Amino acid sequence: MAVPFLVGIVAVLCGVVLWRLGSAWWTYRGRRVVTCPETRNPAGVTVDSLHAMATALGRPQLRLESCSRWPEKAGCGQECLSEIAESLESCLVRNILLEWYVGKACVSCELPIGEIPLVGAKPAVLCADGRSMEWSEIPAESLQETLLEARPICFACHTARRMLREHRELLSGLPESTVRPAH
Ligand SMILES: [Zn+2]
Repeated sequence: MAVPFLVGIVAVLCGVVLWRLGSAWWTYRGRRVVTCPETRNPAGVTVDSLHAMATALGRPQLRLESCSRWPEKAGCGQECLSEIAESLESCLVRNILLEWYVGKACVSCELPIGEIPLVGAKPAVLCADGRSMEWSEIPAESLQETLLEARPICFACHTARRMLREHRELLSGLPESTVRPAH
């Protein structure tokens, strides 16, 4: 058998293996919201995507990497994994947020939120208490509850709002003589 043919076969096989490992990692990455089978309340979890990737050449083995109920419940049976397997995409925090923004406009500038890029600047969430939070700052276990009363805010308005708040905090931390205008 010709050497180039064998090299070609090996290259194709390597490509298939890499694709399979990569797609397993992509499928199981990210924060998710599940209903804890024990409490019936939301819990924030992440699946060990590297372990799923490492076992992807057979049937990927799922195990949790983190849970908002840990460390107290770290020894649980991880029964929520079956819920994750059934709703892989719909329980992803990212997908829940993407759906929430559909058809909404920024509460501050009133411009439509529009398409949200996969990477880069994303809109934020203006919570009921007036704080604007980035996606990573919202605990997954309270995401649904937060979104119920929150309003969307675009990245530019969120950044401006945050800068104003931080500078106000900075100024309020200075001695009064420094803040007081000169006569
Ligand atoms: Zn805006």
